Amino acid sequence: MDLLQSLWAYHDACSNIARVEAELASTEAHKKFVALHAELTELQNKKNKLVNILESSNLALHTLENEYADLERKIPIEITELEKRQSMEDVTSSNIIAIKNSLEDLLRDIKTLKAKIIKLAENIIIAQNQLQETLSRGTKVLRAYNKISSICKEEADARAPEIKKLHEIKAQCAAKVPPELVRKYDRVRGMHADPLAALNENKCSGCNMSLPTSTVQIIEEGNSIVTCENCGRILYCN
Ligand SMILES: [Zn+2]
Repeated sequence: MDLLQSLWAYHDACSNIARVEAELASTEAHKKFVALHAELTELQNKKNKLVNILESSNLALHTLENEYADLERKIPIEITELEKRQSMEDVTSSNIIAIKNSLEDLLRDIKTLKAKIIKLAENIIIAQNQLQETLSRGTKVLRAYNKISSICKEEADARAPEIKKLHEIKAQCAAKVPPELVRKYDRVRGMHADPLAALNENKCSGCNMSLPTSTVQIIEEGNSIVTCENCGRILYCN
C-alpha cells in the first residue's frame, strides 16, 4: 500500500532526526552541560534563599538592637529611683524590694536580649559565609558552563548540515502523506518514541492489547490506517 509506504518513509526520516538529536544529547560534553546547568540552578536558588535569610535576619537584628538600647536607657533611671527611695525617711522595705525586683527584671531582660543578639549575629555570619561560598562556587560553575556550552555548540554546528538534510528529506516524505495523517503520526510520536506498531498475534505490539477481529481484518487488508484504541499507535501488518 502506497500510503503506508509513504508513512514508513516519513517515519524513517523522523527517526533519523531523532537519532542524531539523541546522539548530540548523549555526548560527554552535553552530559556535563546538563549537570552544570542543574548545579547552576541549584546555586541560584541557594543564593536567593541566603539573601532572603540575611535580609530578614539583619532586619530582626536591627529591631533587637533598638530594644536593647531602650532597656539600657532604663537602667540609670531605675538606679536613680532606687537611690532616691532609699534616701527617703518614710519609705517601706517592701517598696524598696519592689524597686530592686524591677531593676533585677530589667537586668535579666537585658541579658536575655543580649544572648539573642549574639546568637542572631552568629547566624548572620554563618549565612554570610555560606553566601560567599555559594557565589564563589557559582563563578567557577558558570565559567565551566560557558566553556562546555561552546563545546556543545561546536558539536551541534558540526552536525547541522546533516540535520538540515534530514529535515529536507522529512519534508519531502511528508509531502507524500496526507496532512491529517502527518498530524496524527506527529501526535502519536509525541507520546511514543515508536509510533508504529506491528500486528502481532492479533495484538498491538506497542501495548500488547488484543484487538477485535474486525480491526485485525482491516489492518490485514492494508487499505486504511488504523490506530490502537488503547495506546494510539498506528498499526501495520508485517
Ligand atoms: Zn497499542
